[in-house]
Amino acid sequence: MESKTEKLVIIGSGPAGLTAAIYGCRADLDPLVYMGTKYGGQLMLTSEVENFPGFPDPVLGPDLIARMKSQAERLGARLVQEDVVRVNFRTFPFEVYSDSGMSKALSVIIATGANPKRLNLRNEMRLMGKGVSNCAVCDAFFFRGKKVAVVGGGDTAMEEATFLTKFASSVQVIHRRNELRASAALKKEAMANPKISFIWDSEVTDVLGEGKVQGAKLRNLKTGEVRELQLDGVFVAIGYDPNTEIFNGQLELDPKGYVAIKNETESSVPGVFVAGDVHDFRYRQAITAAADGCKALLDAEKFVKQKLELKVAN
Ligand code: NAP
Repeated sequence: MESKTEKLVIIGSGPAGLTAAIYGCRADLDPLVYMGTKYGGQLMLTSEVENFPGFPDPVLGPDLIARMKSQAERLGARLVQEDVVRVNFRTFPFEVYSDSGMSKALSVIIATGANPKRLNLRNEMRLMGKGVSNCAVCDAFFFRGKKVAVVGGGDTAMEEATFLTKFASSVQVIHRRNELRASAALKKEAMANPKISFIWDSEVTDVLGEGKVQGAKLRNLKTGEVRELQLDGVFVAIGYDPNTEIFNGQLELDPKGYVAIKNETESSVPGVFVAGDVHDFRYRQAITAAADGCKALLDAEKFVKQKLELKVAN
């Protein structure tokens, strides 16, 4: 017996994937959503979210995801807590494989996100959301008048450092070399900011604190000198790893491994659409990912409609 062909399969369950699922139900596409075994994405590691419209009081990241998930479920989305292990976009309908089997689909939305790179320090994850952060735009507000450090020397680190100066009393950029990788404009802006200072040739060897961050341990890579800094926050800004391993060889990726897009949501394969941090290294916000999920769905809907009309005509 021939297996059913889905109109839409969504891979990923952060704000991009779940928004695509909500809109997908409303568009009568009956979406099947592979949420991943660890569903929800970066918001699952975020504490209070204060900048998502519609929530006058802070909402915890996991609660925001739970609300999006139940909204999608109420509208009829089929959510499965499984990882996609392989895709075949060289055939049509597309094939999406998980451990429990294979789904055929007329369209696919990829919303697998990106993970911030970690320093892999002993206390980094324990203090995540308690002074350790990967997002100044999300969390700078909580550091008014406080001392913070930013780890990294790229564009993200410079942007984070500059943004943090709106609130923090001082921002120390800790970089493992004595030269920044960031673009000239961002570098110049950060270096001219009187609240920002630089600690060169140094690595953070641990974050310190019990209930919240109280400092960081540093090692100078040239002299070997070890010292402790008293800090209220540590922003880790050393880059992101987009979750695109399973799309290698199936879709065009950019040199950093993000899915390459054109016309806002299209991948290199017609019918496979892209939403959220898996392509967007620029904005990386829950709200921009959600908006992206909506856009991808509207484009997928048109694609599916054309395919179904063609089928009827034939
Ligand atoms: P990135 O350019 O890869 O820079 C990462 C930085 O973190 C580097 O300075 C690197 O040090 C450091 N680093 C990496 N691993 C480390 C570790 N384990 N310990 C300590 N330091 C570590 O990443 P990004 O800044 O996130 O930027 C990613 C891409 O997005 C880039 O293409 C960037 O131009 C772009 N972007 C653009 C904008 C904008 O145009 N406004 C804003 C943000 C990002 P080394 O320098 O020693 O390698």
